[in-house]
Amino acid sequence: MVIEYSAGREGTVKIIAIFAIAITIPQVRAADDAFAVTQGKAYKFEKVADGVYYASGGLGSNNVVIVNDQDVVLVDDGTTPAAARALLQDIKLITTRPVKTVINTHFHYDHTDGNSIFPPDVEIIGHEYVRTAILTFNVLDREPYTTSSKNLATTDDIRRQLTEIKPTPPNTTYASKMTLHRGGREIQLLFLGRGHTGGDTFVYLPKERIVCTGDEDEGARLAYMGDGLFDEWIATLEALKKLDFTLVLPGHGRPFHEKALITAFQSYLRDVVAKVTDLRRQGATPDQAAVSVDLTSHSKDFPDIKGPGADLRGVRRIYEWLDENHK
Ligand SMILES: [Zn+2]
Repeated sequence: MVIEYSAGREGTVKIIAIFAIAITIPQVRAADDAFAVTQGKAYKFEKVADGVYYASGGLGSNNVVIVNDQDVVLVDDGTTPAAARALLQDIKLITTRPVKTVINTHFHYDHTDGNSIFPPDVEIIGHEYVRTAILTFNVLDREPYTTSSKNLATTDDIRRQLTEIKPTPPNTTYASKMTLHRGGREIQLLFLGRGHTGGDTFVYLPKERIVCTGDEDEGARLAYMGDGLFDEWIATLEALKKLDFTLVLPGHGRPFHEKALITAFQSYLRDVVAKVTDLRRQGATPDQAAVSVDLTSHSKDFPDIKGPGADLRGVRRIYEWLDENHK
């Protein structure tokens, strides 16, 4: 079965739906969506498998809502307490079951700053690095929050929401693997190595053959690199590709199927590091390198690349990482 749909900025994508057995055929199909859609006040839910919804449209990362026999497991919870409350309100459109577990894919504000609204009996799970980062990094006074919050603060409402943020760490941590059994569903939390940050979790549903990648891989969108560990990141993505999945739900962007998109991002990472390393050798400052580094050969995989240049925070991080690794 081939489903064709327009994936917003990313253009029209053809999907070979080899996962057809795992998903319910959409009853309601919005013009632009391959999946059945439930539209809430703030969030749009796309039903990607039985009880598994991809939520987008709120303030912060995209989320995954996993509805089990008795409860709901949520992957990431948005940029602000208000965003998380809006998400919980909208989730009522798809289930009456309570959110009992939240998984933080990594420590960045747009995935974790809804944590503070949950009562203590809700388990918030993250890699142990996520807890350390939120407790010790002064996260509201460093990137990516400092620049992003300035860019986000375009309305009084959002400015008010941002003042309400209380960085709250996971109350349950793990080091390499954790498995949740919820009714008939198995949910694996996998740390496959450092990359986008020092502790990112892949949420893997083996039966559904779905993996949630947070910001380790965002498909046709370039992930933030300001906390990257570049050679390890490429290796972690190699480990990711070894999992058996047919659908990827990223923390930003759109769901996708092709492992080739992960390979394309590995290739981008290799190239941006090599080219920034060269520019540094030639005496360029990070600011100069961020303007001139030419990655336009990757624009067919990453349509956001419109000309030379790369995100300054990522380029600064490559300089720092080269220093750390004596390269
Ligand atoms: Zn991130």
